[in-house]
Amino acid sequence: MADKLQRSDVTLDTIVSLCKRRGIIFPGSDIYGGLQGTFDYGPVGAELKRNVKNAWWRSMVQERFDIEGVDTSLLLHPAVWTASGHVENFTDPLCDSLGPSRKRYRADHIEETECAKFVLVDVTDNAAPKTLDTEIWAPTKKKAKEFFQQWYEKALGLEGRRVKIEEVEGSRTTGRFSPDDGGRLTEARQFNLMLSTTLGPVEESSAKVFLRPETAQGIFINYENARATARRKLPFGIAQQGKSFRNEITPRNFIFRTREFEQMEMEFFCKPGEFCKEGEQSDMEWFEFWRNERLQWYIRYGIQPANLRFYDHPKEKLSHYSRGTTDIEYLYPIGWQELEGIAHRGNFDLTQHMEHSGKDLRYFDPDANTHYVPYVIEPAAGVDRAMLAFLCDAYREEIVTSGEEGEGGKESRRVVLGLHKDLAPVKAAVFPLLKNRPELVETAKKIAADLKRFTNAVYDDTAAIGKLYRRQDEIGTPFCVTVDVDSMEDQAVTVRERDSMQQVRIPLDRVVAYLRDQLQG
Ligand code: ATP
Repeated sequence: MADKLQRSDVTLDTIVSLCKRRGIIFPGSDIYGGLQGTFDYGPVGAELKRNVKNAWWRSMVQERFDIEGVDTSLLLHPAVWTASGHVENFTDPLCDSLGPSRKRYRADHIEETECAKFVLVDVTDNAAPKTLDTEIWAPTKKKAKEFFQQWYEKALGLEGRRVKIEEVEGSRTTGRFSPDDGGRLTEARQFNLMLSTTLGPVEESSAKVFLRPETAQGIFINYENARATARRKLPFGIAQQGKSFRNEITPRNFIFRTREFEQMEMEFFCKPGEFCKEGEQSDMEWFEFWRNERLQWYIRYGIQPANLRFYDHPKEKLSHYSRGTTDIEYLYPIGWQELEGIAHRGNFDLTQHMEHSGKDLRYFDPDANTHYVPYVIEPAAGVDRAMLAFLCDAYREEIVTSGEEGEGGKESRRVVLGLHKDLAPVKAAVFPLLKNRPELVETAKKIAADLKRFTNAVYDDTAAIGKLYRRQDEIGTPFCVTVDVDSMEDQAVTVRERDSMQQVRIPLDRVVAYLRDQLQG
């Protein structure tokens, strides 16, 4: 049996290599050397991503009575982004190292550190030491030396010369310097993150449009269309999933921060507190509701509560219109980071679109007999960041000591993705114990075909049974079915469960119903 599992200290590299090995995620444009900030989902990853999105859609739209779904364009009228404030404010502060690496940073991602200034003295000619006009900022002399060897020696043509590195007395200070080469940083300048393209055949006469940096604005501009056609009264929500694009300054950490990604956003339109009748939930109560609801969603789909927490943005850091913003953070291998944001956006977006489009987007409240602009609570999640959290949380390595599964009684290591069954890319894998026995192959293929009618099942006979189990464990397949020689006698097959590795014998004519119960229960 397997040792009792703990979440292993999984690193991002471990997840990246599992994803590549098992066809979950590949670097974008891989055969051309990659395209920074893009990733492609492989055969297994595409299923996982679809399942994450379906799980969200189910709980946000299908299971609720108060939310409608929409699917709006990626290209919106340019005025949308002026109205929403993105043209003016959707920027990140960008700075560059003045050192030889010339690396580029998001200024707010560079931590302040205590560093001293180091200078280089060329002592090749002992009699005439020469101090060079170069500075390296580093916490220690050792670090300054590392920077020198990695960057400065070659850039300054100092290879083969004797160079001393000296700390300048009294220079120690706390500030922001390049963590890669110890260079000073340029002043931060604001860089707009929206990607643009042109609409129309002739470039000069065509219109510049933006690729949407969020899905939310497509919802706001369709608020009245959706409300009127669905005959909705407040409170109600509109949800959407889809691609967004941001020209991130430093895309990094695998699929955590990319330039093309998917979002799952819902705008919940509700009455401002002063218009609520006795017993109706106020806007602030809805904000609380959605914070908790979204946290519970991640727990429902298997994330350990200890790896999730709320981060409430301090009041003084909120946008002028926001009445509260909370991030749900996950303990990624790179530390606690935003997984999803829940924002109380007041009536900012609809008011802006009213002003810029000239259309009246106010709501007529029959109870209060007046018009007003609804308040909005927005839970905004990233599909890719959610996938990364699910992958990291599900990853385990175990020592298997049983003699089962072709291991011959030896200890062996197995990698398991303990994914929630609704998220698992493959729900069941069917194998014949011997691929040279046509009756076993035929029976296994028939079971796989029957399973495929209601779920994603696979047939595989490309390795020995132990190896086939391990492959499925690594992608989180909850059940494996083996057709063996005895199956022909007792008309039964072995069903093996991923986490416990327990095997049960199930009659052939009941195996599909059995798995359907297990998967849907
Ligand atoms: P960050 O501060 O990390 O840049 P944000 O606060 O700008 O994120 P939002 O605008 O609130 O992010 O977007 C909602 C969600 O979309 C985020 O919580 C995240 O899950 C996802 N997301 C945003 N930017 C990216 C990106 N570049 N790559 C992948 N997912 C992203």
